[in-house]
Amino acid sequence: MPLSSAAFAPPLQAGAQQTLLGLGRAELADRLAALGEKPFRARQLWQWIYHHGVGDFAQMSSLPQAARALLAEHFHLARPTVSAHQISADGTQKWLLRLSDGNEIESVFIPEVDRGTLCISSQVGCTLSCRFCHTGTQRLVRNLSAAEIVGQVLNAKDALGDWPASRPDRSVTNVVLMGMGEPLYNYDNVARAVRVLLDDGGLKLSRRRVTLSTSGVVPLIRRAGEELGVSLAISLHATTDELRDRIMPINKKYPLAELLQACREYPGVHNARRITFEYVMLKGVNDGDEDARRLVELIADIPAKVNLIPFNPWPNAPYERSDNVTIERFAQIVRDAGYPSPVRTPRGEDILAACGQLKSASERPRRAAAPVAP
Ligand code: SAH
Ligand code: SF4
Repeated sequence: MPLSSAAFAPPLQAGAQQTLLGLGRAELADRLAALGEKPFRARQLWQWIYHHGVGDFAQMSSLPQAARALLAEHFHLARPTVSAHQISADGTQKWLLRLSDGNEIESVFIPEVDRGTLCISSQVGCTLSCRFCHTGTQRLVRNLSAAEIVGQVLNAKDALGDWPASRPDRSVTNVVLMGMGEPLYNYDNVARAVRVLLDDGGLKLSRRRVTLSTSGVVPLIRRAGEELGVSLAISLHATTDELRDRIMPINKKYPLAELLQACREYPGVHNARRITFEYVMLKGVNDGDEDARRLVELIADIPAKVNLIPFNPWPNAPYERSDNVTIERFAQIVRDAGYPSPVRTPRGEDILAACGQLKSASERPRRAAAPVAP
């Protein structure tokens, strides 16, 4: 049956179409039902949006013309607007994306030989202020909606020609919530978005290939494990509460012992489902042999991998990157204890796309709009 009766439509003003992105299947069906449509239309629509990546109802050829027109009258599938797109010498791509309220966020695509990882943001800025992180210096913060989180994936796939979603040579094989923001401080929207990413009839990413990175919001780690079952990365960065309190203020609320207990209890972790610990290498701060030894003691009973991230500098940052020799010594101690400990090669440094370098201009008025000095 075609979508017909506008009498069932939700009370929307002309020109005020709502997004359908980020809704779950049931919510999408509800929206269509409100327009007098049957559930199978919602399934067709889902496939168009997330399997074929079509962002324009007019192109949905299996839907009757009238249905396409009605949908376009009430809804849209717009991605965030690309304000800037940069490609690094190493192939990393970064998009500065403008949201409908004018705020800006960034997403980064990192191609590697065996995978392509899209790093997406969960908030504009971040309420936490880890001392080594550029995002943490940005004052303006708001949560992203599920549509804005999913929209980053759709934007990247559009740009990379990565449709249909099931293509065997797809570019985006992994998604990491490691961009701007603390995903667990925006739990509901992140959870909705993740469910869309995992849906088998759409973007079809496997749980193992979606990684949520957190600075350690302990109560929500368990919930994320139970409800979403995605891979977990913990931004550890220090091995004593004294240092972690100083460089990651969230530690005062959820200290190391509680954080590590939440990791031990993370669902699936004992089926060799490894947790990734991220550890930024800060010269003379957390990079000594004794730090490495404490680190392996702390995680002794947790199946884990330790990603060492050489500190990525940003303007006026209070830290320096550890020397390569020091990083290697540290990595060796961790490896000798039986943990894989890759040193992350900084990617996209020339376009400020590396870990911890993301920061949008949302905290200040756009330069172009500022008054010009006489
Ligand atoms: N807020 C979440 C998600 C952001 S992930 C979290 O903190 O886990 C971004 C990763 O990059 C985190 O591990 C973060 O600690 C790390 N990071 C932040 N600033 C960095 C910098 N300047 N150099 C290297 N890594 C950094
Ligand atoms: Fe926020 Fe993560 Fe940066 Fe800390 S490291 S300020 S939690 S984005």
